[in-house]
Amino acid sequence: MSPKTYDAIVVGSGMTGGWAAKELTEAGLETLVLEAGRNVTPADYVEHVPPWQMRFRGLDNRKKRMADQPIQRECYACDEWSSKFFVNDHDNPYTTESDKPFLFLRGRQVGGRSIMWGRQVYRWSDLDFEANLRDGIAIDWPIRYADLSPWYDHVERFIGISGEKLGLPQLPDGQFLKPMELNCGEQVVRDALAKHWPGERVLTIGRCAILTEDHNGRAACHYCGYCERGCVTLSYFNSINATLPAARATGKLTLRPLSVAHSLIYDKKRNRVAGVRVIDGDTKHALEFRARVVFLCASTLESARILLNSATPDFPNGLANSSGELGHNLMDHIMGGGANGKIAAPADKKPVGRRPNGIYVPRFRNLQGGPKSTFLRGYGYQGGAGREGWGRGSDLPGFGADWKKALRQPGDWGFGFYGFGECLPNHNNYVEIDKTKNDAWGIPVLKIHCSYGDNEWALMKDASIAAAEMLAAAGAREITPFVEQNPPGKAIHEMGTARMGRDPKTSVLNAHNQAHDIPNLFVTDGACMVSTACQNPSITYMALTARACDYAVGAMKRKEI
Ligand SMILES: Cc1cc2nc3c(=O)[nH]c(=O)nc-3n(C[C@H](O)[C@H](O)[C@H](O)COP(=O)(O)OP(=O)(O)OC[C@H]3O[C@@H](n4cnc5c(N)ncnc54)[C@H](O)[C@@H]3O)c2cc1C
Ligand code: SF4
Repeated sequence: MSPKTYDAIVVGSGMTGGWAAKELTEAGLETLVLEAGRNVTPADYVEHVPPWQMRFRGLDNRKKRMADQPIQRECYACDEWSSKFFVNDHDNPYTTESDKPFLFLRGRQVGGRSIMWGRQVYRWSDLDFEANLRDGIAIDWPIRYADLSPWYDHVERFIGISGEKLGLPQLPDGQFLKPMELNCGEQVVRDALAKHWPGERVLTIGRCAILTEDHNGRAACHYCGYCERGCVTLSYFNSINATLPAARATGKLTLRPLSVAHSLIYDKKRNRVAGVRVIDGDTKHALEFRARVVFLCASTLESARILLNSATPDFPNGLANSSGELGHNLMDHIMGGGANGKIAAPADKKPVGRRPNGIYVPRFRNLQGGPKSTFLRGYGYQGGAGREGWGRGSDLPGFGADWKKALRQPGDWGFGFYGFGECLPNHNNYVEIDKTKNDAWGIPVLKIHCSYGDNEWALMKDASIAAAEMLAAAGAREITPFVEQNPPGKAIHEMGTARMGRDPKTSVLNAHNQAHDIPNLFVTDGACMVSTACQNPSITYMALTARACDYAVGAMKRKEI
């Protein structure tokens, strides 16, 4: 047992753990961050390594990938460069029902998945926070947009978000740096949408956590384009680039990599969490660390797993689970309804550089006061326009010098819309501990029960039809609508399992991410979410984390915890 009692322990150093570390240390708390994975530094970043310097020329060691990471390889970013940032599936198993696949895509290192994330950031609005109440589904969020708006501001100002202000109620504007530019193919589609659906369908450049101007000591992006491999100029936000250095600068941070949290230590007499049981990642020795307050930021499913593995006689179904809702209401955005086509954009122009961002079309279905669809909620599109390059060789007829010459010319302009839809909360989508299986550190693993319902599939079908319709309006040809059959988990926006709420009988956490049952326990990653909206969720997790830290620090000062 460590002799020292910290003011705070944060479990996890990824997107939310980095924020908890920054906010708690800046408030003066001696904070220990327990991180399961290895240390990562900018020396690990490989975004400038070209394919010809890679052993498998960027095509990957597919046999090894299949053997070690059969699940993780399903993520587009788990390639020859970045597979080192994804877990080994044999060391980190989980189970599912045979007819309900779930892709559990994870990064276990300092920085977590903030290293490989797609950096798309969209605020939620009251259309989202009021949705469950309006539809009579699950429970109401205990907060509204006004509660979170100053915390979105706080997070955005620090991390640096580039984007365009639109003044849309369903997608509030934020503290933006100058937006990246749409290419001329995207401008063609933007103009067609504005002409055919004025005020309804809007195409904008993605709002993203990438700097278009120097910001807070980090350099503007130089459009090299492979951010999931890291970024030596620190131009996109991840916790290694931004929040952890800020926490370190306070002198109050202790970061302990290779520290796998096994469970929480519960002090029944005080009804407080006393600390965290850890398995050392190297030696596999059991250790204990103590603190006045504990923040779980290990990611949605890992935080739920820690709580479920922390069952005591008083909480036989998992710590802080008097409601019985711990582990339940697991959600992930459904994605993959959309359409591709060839568009008539200027043939004498082509995109320059590798802009690490695409377009966004905010939700336009079931808005307040607008027409209602046969399904609930809505979807937004990501995507973009580009021209085919020399890689189209196998499609181009001919051979010899003329063929090579033709390949040097850019091909047709193409455009793709790719939908991300809301997933409804459902008590029957849940995780439990699989007592028959342990991970490489001897810790029982999760059994995940999750599938999409009719509403999610209806959203993707509509997203595919509407995308084809928009391409047609833009004069596209060879339009190909699609609905991918992606299992839950694939969008990597898993949420729920320890939801917030007003009533301790139906929720695990209160409006400040504090466990109803145990006042010095906070869970601020995606486990706390009550619904999913259709926007990428990480900026909301970060804002909730900063807000919860502020509340916890106040409660500690008031000696409430
Ligand atoms: C390829 C990719 C693209 C994405 N694109 C986007 C996007 O564009 N926009 C968006 O909003 N989101 C995106 N996401 C999702 C985003 O990365 C996650 O929502 C976010 O990282 C979640 O933050 P977190 O802190 O909960 O978890 P993570 O960032 O995963 O961090 C969790 C940390 O906890 C550690 N940990 C886990 N278990 C334990 C334990 N038992 N003990 C100690 N430490 C533990 C892990 O090692 C990890 O470091 C993407 C993800 C991926 C992989
Ligand atoms: S594209 Fe920009 S943010 Fe991405 S790795 Fe390159 S410089 Fe960094």
